[in-house]
Amino acid sequence: MTVTITVHGGAEEIGSSKILVEDKGHDVKFFLDFGKNFEAMRQYYDFPVQPGSLEELLRIEATPDLPGLYHLPESKEQPKTDVDAVLLTHAHTDHCGYIPLLNRSIKMYMGECTRRVFEARIEGSRKRFDTNIEGLEIETFKTGKTFKVGGVEVQPVHVDHSIPGAYGFVIHLSEGILVYTGDFRRHGTRPQLTQDFIDAIQQAGPPDIVLSEGTNIGKAELTKEAEVRRQIEATIKKCRGLAIVDFSEVDFDRFRTMHGVAKATNRELVIEPRRMWMLDTLNKCSELSTPSITKDTTIRRYAPEKKRLSSYEKLLSESKPPLKDYEGRGVKPAELRANPRRYLLATSFGNISLLQRVKPTSGIYLLSASEPFNEESEISFDKLLNWLTLSGLAMYTAHCSGHVDPLGLRQTLEEMKPKSIYPIHTENPRLFKRFLEPSGLSIVIPKQGVPFKL
Ligand SMILES: [Zn+2]
Ligand SMILES: [Zn+2]
Repeated sequence: MTVTITVHGGAEEIGSSKILVEDKGHDVKFFLDFGKNFEAMRQYYDFPVQPGSLEELLRIEATPDLPGLYHLPESKEQPKTDVDAVLLTHAHTDHCGYIPLLNRSIKMYMGECTRRVFEARIEGSRKRFDTNIEGLEIETFKTGKTFKVGGVEVQPVHVDHSIPGAYGFVIHLSEGILVYTGDFRRHGTRPQLTQDFIDAIQQAGPPDIVLSEGTNIGKAELTKEAEVRRQIEATIKKCRGLAIVDFSEVDFDRFRTMHGVAKATNRELVIEPRRMWMLDTLNKCSELSTPSITKDTTIRRYAPEKKRLSSYEKLLSESKPPLKDYEGRGVKPAELRANPRRYLLATSFGNISLLQRVKPTSGIYLLSASEPFNEESEISFDKLLNWLTLSGLAMYTAHCSGHVDPLGLRQTLEEMKPKSIYPIHTENPRLFKRFLEPSGLSIVIPKQGVPFKL
């Protein structure tokens, strides 16, 4: 048993991805992703109650208890750990959310854009035990360019997903090839990225194991981004009140869609400071052609009247170089209430404080994200529905998923030609197995915390 793999998060669940790879031949040990466990958060907490400490997260088994794995901020020296690195696929919180907890002698590898998003989020977060990244060593990689972790060669290759800068990995271990898909899709705006990943796998030779995501195996939506745009535009044209759109602040394809919809429906796009900060961050990612918020003064800023600035408002007002005309672009809740037809108000994760402040009287609420909020959100869907009733807002949904559909998954795995496939990041690994085995694919369902051989 020279190479063993242990799924510490992501077996029979969506997100919480944490997969430990140990290669004794190369004397190296690393995690693939180290994500936040939203299921445990939902079981034990309700806003504003949050986990109080690392000990508590270990107690509720939100994250694995391995010797020396975690950072001890109160002691000067890091505990001894045999984990060398974490290879991060992308900046969704269910893949990177627990990285701040880790021992500082563990090195982080991530794409450039992922690093920007990861750090921008931390900068805007309240200072807590799980948002401190002081002393964390981060090295960035580029698509196709191999890097080494000990003697292990890792080739990161971009994939299309609902966040920019997402990667899959082709990993050359002492005894064979391991492929980790991360999260990916083939029906998005840039299918070529995923095709490049598959091409790289074919060039490397058949993988011994593919760790494959299976989010949509039980239920897939077929809508493409262009269709989402068409549906939303047609709906908002008919709306006579306020139109609120709820979508992930790091889904850049969706931002482009909403930006286009606002122009086509003669509404001004109003975004929250947190989204503005993330967009400003993404604007700095070299590979993206983004509507630049620093230049585009038609994008307005939601500006509630408050005594204190939020952390994101502070970051924006102090931004260097300053965001052009940032101060002049504010729209107050009273203005949104007085002239609702003029605006397209963007929010994320069912932001209830926005509904409390704006107090809309009628209109539509267009949820354009994966329901029911499983990857990045902690707020309860039921509470959002109650607030929508109170506000006279009718709910619509329109979304293009960040994840591959079942037949697209079958095609992908057939093209990769692996010896065996381990489904992760899915609530339904049994269906994954039954659906794909008739195609001659060999599927093994991993158990949480139980190691298996390459
Ligand atoms: Zn995910
Ligand atoms: Zn993701």
